[in-house]
Amino acid sequence: KHAMAKSRYEYVRNFECEDRLLPSTWLVVRLDGQGFTRFTEQHHFTKPNDIRALHLMNRAAKVVMESMVEIVLAYGQSDEYSFVFLKTARAYDRRASKLATLLVSKFTAAYVFYWSEFFPDTPLKRLPSFDARVVVYPSDRIMRDYLCWRQADCHINNMYNTCFWTLVNTGGLTPKDAEKRLNGTLSKDKHELLFGEFGVNYNSEQEIFKKGSVVVREKAPIDVIDKGGHSSTRFKSIVQICHCDIIGDAFWRERPEILG
Ligand code: ATP
Ligand code: ATP
Ligand code: MG
Ligand code: MG
Ligand code: MG
Ligand code: MG
Ligand code: MG
Repeated sequence: KHAMAKSRYEYVRNFECEDRLLPSTWLVVRLDGQGFTRFTEQHHFTKPNDIRALHLMNRAAKVVMESMVEIVLAYGQSDEYSFVFLKTARAYDRRASKLATLLVSKFTAAYVFYWSEFFPDTPLKRLPSFDARVVVYPSDRIMRDYLCWRQADCHINNMYNTCFWTLVNTGGLTPKDAEKRLNGTLSKDKHELLFGEFGVNYNSEQEIFKKGSVVVREKAPIDVIDKGGHSSTRFKSIVQICHCDIIGDAFWRERPEILG
């Protein structure tokens, strides 16, 4: 590259704000689909959960994780995804706007790139877009509570939406009446409503709907054969998706490398 010549206009750089995030803290970037209530209608998503759309979100998240090695964990549900960077992450000098914009543009590009693989019969009618924010969490406990918050949100919304769409689609209620019917109901009431009136056992719903998607890196063994014909096992880090509980301690105990 040429050495950049200084010009008398260079001083405008001083107007840029410093946005380097606090060192030694967890960084979380959360993306959320913009106007997806409308977007999902325009593209005839199955309600309440279109499995193709969830798999497409997961595919895009995988692209992001594979391109940024300092992301240790990601969690997705509905039209949102959270990416957790290691406390020691140094990518882009921890500059908030660089991290958020690169991440959201990679994710969006992948979402569009892979759309037809998951929706072969549904052409894109408009460009999907996502917003992004970065939040700094100063302790392991608070970062874990952040993830608990998102997974609890997934559970609460899914339970409500499952009841709502069962009342509308199977029960024949109008959306207004279904909403009225659910007003003030507790979790226990929703279980009873689904089972008692529709024979639906909420607990047997798919895990991906109830728990969302957790993306982690796992060491997979691969057999390598050297030139002399000797075989040995090496470990390669691969990105894996599961639909497990991340609120309790078990997940964290089984993966001590995440918290370090
Ligand atoms: P960074 O990620 O730091 O931005 P970069 O490789 O994108 O790295 P830039 O300083 O942004 O570096 O430079 C953009 C590069 O893309 C230059 O090499 C430039 O010549 C090339 N480029 C951009 N637009 C065009 C174009 N329309 N035709 C040919 N080359 C282009
Ligand atoms: P905003 O731009 O403020 O985020 P929004 O319309 O995207 O507005 P959200 O609160 O993000 O609002 O809600 C996401 C919407 O997308 C909900 O209506 C949800 O039901 C729908 N949605 C997201 N993923 C799916 C899916 N896989 N299947 C069916 N519907 C989905
Ligand atoms: Mg440039
Ligand atoms: Mg929103
Ligand atoms: Mg949204
Ligand atoms: Mg959302
Ligand atoms: Mg560039």
